[in-house]
Amino acid sequence: MDISIIVPLYNEAESLPKLYEWIARVMKEYKFSYEVIFVNDGSTDESWQVIQSLNAQDDKAIHGICFRRNYGKSAALYCGFKAAQGEVVITMDADLQDSPDEIPELYRMITEEGYDLVSGWKQKRYDNKLTKNLPSKLFNATARRVTGIQLHDMNCGLKAYRREVVKNIEVFSEMHRYIPYLAKNAGFTKIGEKVVQHRKREFGTSKFGLNRFVNGYLDLMTLWFLNKFGKQPMHFFGLVGSLMFMIGFVAVIVVGGMKLYALSHHVSAMLVGVNPYFHIAILMMILGCMLFLAGFLAELMIRNSPSRNDYLIKEEI
Ligand code: UDP
Ligand code: MG
Repeated sequence: MDISIIVPLYNEAESLPKLYEWIARVMKEYKFSYEVIFVNDGSTDESWQVIQSLNAQDDKAIHGICFRRNYGKSAALYCGFKAAQGEVVITMDADLQDSPDEIPELYRMITEEGYDLVSGWKQKRYDNKLTKNLPSKLFNATARRVTGIQLHDMNCGLKAYRREVVKNIEVFSEMHRYIPYLAKNAGFTKIGEKVVQHRKREFGTSKFGLNRFVNGYLDLMTLWFLNKFGKQPMHFFGLVGSLMFMIGFVAVIVVGGMKLYALSHHVSAMLVGVNPYFHIAILMMILGCMLFLAGFLAELMIRNSPSRNDYLIKEEI
C-alpha cells in the first residue's frame, strides 16, 4: 500500500464526508493505493456514525478507531501510527484546514527525495491572529533553538512520514507538537518542510486554547532534558550536586577556621550559629546531597526500564 492517511478527530462530524470525498478524489487522480484511518478521539457528536457510514461505503479504504473517551490528539496519532500499513504515512487534521491536494507532493518528497519526515508549513494562516498566529511564531522560534530543527511550523497537523519513522517513535501525553524532535532523537534526521495551503475552519470550533503554549513550553523542556540527560541523569544531578556540596563544604571549613583563628588569637568574633555564611554553606551541602541522591535514584530507575537497551538498528550485513 502506498499511503496511509491518519485523521485524528474530536467532534468534527460535519467536516468528515467532505474531507473523505476530497481525499478519495486526489488518491484516484494519482492512482495511489491508500487507506484512511479515522481516529475518533471520544467525540460526543455524530462523528462515529459518520465514520461508520463511510466505512460501509468502502470498507477496504476506510478504517475507524473509536476511543471510549477523549484522550487527546497524541493518543489518537499513536493508535493511528500503530495501525498504519502504507509505505508513506500522512497525518492531517479533520477540520478541512489542511488540504488533501498537498498529499501527492509530500509523498514524492518522501519516496523520491529521501526525506524521513516532511512537515507542512502554513505560511499563510487562516486562524485568529492574536491567539494563534503571533504566539505560534514565538513558539516556533523557541522550538527551533531548543531542538535544532529548522522548521517554521513544527506543530502543523499535516505531515508525511516514512513508515519506519512512525513505527519507531512513541507519541504520548501531548508530545504530538514535537514529533519532528522525537524523530530526530530516534535518528531520523532528514527532516524537510513544504509550504502548504491553509484554510479557514468551516465547521465547529478549535479544540486548543491558549494554554497550549504553556503546556507546549513545559513539554519542550521535558523533551530537551530527556534527550540530554534521560539516559544518564547522574551527569546532571551528580555534577550539580557534587559541586554544591563541595562549595558548601569548603565554606563550612572557612567559617569554622576563621572562628578558631579568632578564638586562638583572642579576637572577638560572632557565634558560628548566627553567621549567615554558615547557614548558606550548610544549605548548599544538604541540597548538594539531595541532588546527588536524586540523580542516583534516577540511575537506579533507568536500570530497571525495559527500554534501557533499545537501539534502532539501521542496517546489518
Ligand atoms: N483533536 C483530537 N483530539 C483532541 C483535540 C483535537 O483528535 O482532543 C483533533 C481535531 O479534531 C482536529 C485536530 O486534532 O482534527 C486539530 O485540532 P484543531 O483544529 O482544533 O486545532 P487548531 O487547528 O485550532 O490548531
Ligand atoms: Mg484546525
